[in-house]
Parts: sequence; C-alpha cells; structure tokens
Amino acid sequence: MDATPQPLSTETIREKVPVTAIPGDGIGREVMAAVRQVLDAAGARIAWEEALAGAEAFRKGIATGAPQETLDSIARTGVALKGPLETPVGYGEKSANVTLRKIFEMYGNVRPVRELPGIHTPFGGRGIDFVVVRENVEDVYAGIEHMQTPSVAQCLKLITEVGCERIVRLAAAVAEAEGRKKVTVATKANIMKLTEGMMKRVGEQVLKDYPSLTPEHMIVDNCAHQMVIRPEQFDVTVMTNMNGDILSDLAAGLVGGLGVAPSANLGDHVAMFEAVHGSAPQIAGKGIANPTALLLSALMMLRHIGDFATARKVEHALYVTLEEGRDLTGDIAPEGEGAPTQAFVERIIANLGRE
Ligand code: NAD
Repeated sequence: MDATPQPLSTETIREKVPVTAIPGDGIGREVMAAVRQVLDAAGARIAWEEALAGAEAFRKGIATGAPQETLDSIARTGVALKGPLETPVGYGEKSANVTLRKIFEMYGNVRPVRELPGIHTPFGGRGIDFVVVRENVEDVYAGIEHMQTPSVAQCLKLITEVGCERIVRLAAAVAEAEGRKKVTVATKANIMKLTEGMMKRVGEQVLKDYPSLTPEHMIVDNCAHQMVIRPEQFDVTVMTNMNGDILSDLAAGLVGGLGVAPSANLGDHVAMFEAVHGSAPQIAGKGIANPTALLLSALMMLRHIGDFATARKVEHALYVTLEEGRDLTGDIAPEGEGAPTQAFVERIIANLGRE
C-alpha cells in the first residue's frame, strides 16, 4: 500500500486548485486571514471554499461541530487548511477535530520539527531537523471508555495491525520523500506488550521493505529524554496516538513553541493542514496572534498540491522576515517588542520579491 498522498501534476496547477478553508475559532480567523493575505500576495493559484466548523457550528446545534456542507466541501476538494477548533466543555458530542479526522480517516499526523532562523531557544544551533509521525485515529482516542463501578473508570486502548502498518509506511514514505535516513519507532512495548508491542513488531517488519532506511526502536519515555538531551539524533519518529500527541508537543517546544509549529493530517483521500496550536482565547480578537504556524502548515499544503515554486517563495520571505527580527509577534519577538499580526504579515509580503 502506498500511503503517500500524490502531488497533483504541474499541468493541474495552472488552474486554481480548490482548497477548503476552515477559519475555526478564537485566533483562527485572524491567522487564517493573515495566511490567505500572504498566499494571495505570492500568487498562489488557490480557489478557496470557506467552510464552517467548531464553536459556531455547535452553537447552531450541529452535534459533531462540522456541518454537512463542510464535510461535502472537504470530500470534494480533498485538501483543507484549518484553523483551531475549540473543544466544547459540557456541550456538543465530541471534539470537531476528532470527528473530521475520523470521518476522513486521516490516520497520519505529520509534524516537522525544524530550527527556524531568528527564533532563539535554549536548543538552537544544534541542527534540529526531524519529523514526528503520529497515528491519528486509534489508541485511547478511539473514545471507548466506561465506568466499571461508580468509582472505577476504564478506557480501552485500541491498536490494530492495519493501523500500525499504514502509519509506519507513511513514516517511511516521509523519510524517503525527504531524503532522510532513519526511522525510529518509539513505543511502550516493555509494559503494554500486546498493543504497544504490536506497533514495535509491525514496525520492525514493515521497515524491512525499506532497505535504504535504518530502523530503530526506542522505549518512548527514553525517547522523550533523548529528544531533550540530544534532539539532533532524530530523523523520522513514529508513534501511537497518545505517545505521539505528547512527544510532538515536546518536540515543538524545542524549536520555538506553538506559535511556529505546523502539521498535516493525512489520509488516503484527504489532507488537512493546520497549526499545532489551539484557539488561544486569551489573545483572540486582539490582532496579536502569530500566523507562522498556520503559514508553515500552508507551505506543506502548497507542496502537497504541487505548487513548489510558491511554497519556496513564501518560505524564503518568511525566513528573511524572521531573520531580520523586525515586526515579529509578541510570542517570538525580543522582550516587550511584539508587533501586531498585520505588521508581521506586511513585512513578509514586502519580502516576497527578495531572493
Ligand atoms: P492554545 O494552543 O490555544 O494556547 C496555549 C498557549 O499558547 C496560550 O498562552 C496561547 O496564547 C499561546 N498561543 C497559541 N497559539 C499562539 C499563536 N498563534 N500566537 C501566539 N500565541 C499563541 O491551547 P489551549 O489554551 O490549551 O486551548 C484553547 C482551545 O483550543 C481549547 O478549546 C482546545 O480544545 C483547543 N485546541 C484546538 C486544537 C485544534 O483545533 N487542532 C489544538 C489544540 C487546542
């Protein structure tokens, strides 16, 4: 099975490519507007289909948080750029994010972890450049939990061979596509011998099909330790859902945090690109959110649809802007020098023509 989403041919990108844009909640609207402004200025050939999901959908009584028109749009375009969706507490059925992942069987969450110019962290200068591939639909996120007695709750961890195989193949495909050399399967197989053990066993088996890649297994708690102690050793890592959730946030913290962490949710038919961060209600509506994470997600999206030239151009302008260090948003600017989102966007656009 080839799990790699195939880029469209360059023939196709002469026409505008339809993409579903879901602004989402909180800072979602602000960062989505910022990213669309940059992509439009760069001449990206995208026909946006704006769609609703999240809090407003819940308020309208749509229990999944994702209206049918939104699902139809994603099914039609096969590609979505999504802002963060609030998870309602005390109303609504479940997370709209989980719903979208499940409906479109987006089983792989791919998160690049790369040092960025101008972003200073305690881990800077070591050449951190790896990818976390997280299984996205199984594990304890299958939502199978119940009360055994009034005081004992149980949650089932669901892992399948099919799920393990396709996520490890996706990790291998990412490694091959990016010219990487090693795939580290990180599991808790020493304790959960059947579930996490399945990921280890299937991982070892599947990686035999990729002789150009060095397979490695690491116990997941040691992997967390190693990511902090010697993050430059990693190339591609692959994990079950819960472990991947935690370690990918840890990894984002190594290179500048949530404001600059992008991701892709991949299935065989749909790809949805989104920032790792949430709706950040504390700063929503203030015009100060950092659009970098969604912009980097949009660059992954441009490459997915085959528009490599625009992706390169925007990436270069973003890197120049970060390196210059002027008009950066508060989360990445030097102490007390945060600029509004719009000033940052205008700086990126001004740098679009620079080589
Ligand atoms: P959050 O990511 O929204 O915020 C965490 C911290 O990071 C806050 O201090 C916030 O101000 C800061 N931050 C995040 N993004 C930023 C940006 N672009 N620029 C500047 N600062 C930024 O996490 P949370 O507060 O735990 O979650 C808020 C809501 O978002 C919850 O309802 C949660 O369920 C939801 N959420 C959604 C997604 C998603 O849609 N994929 C992901 C995570 C959280």
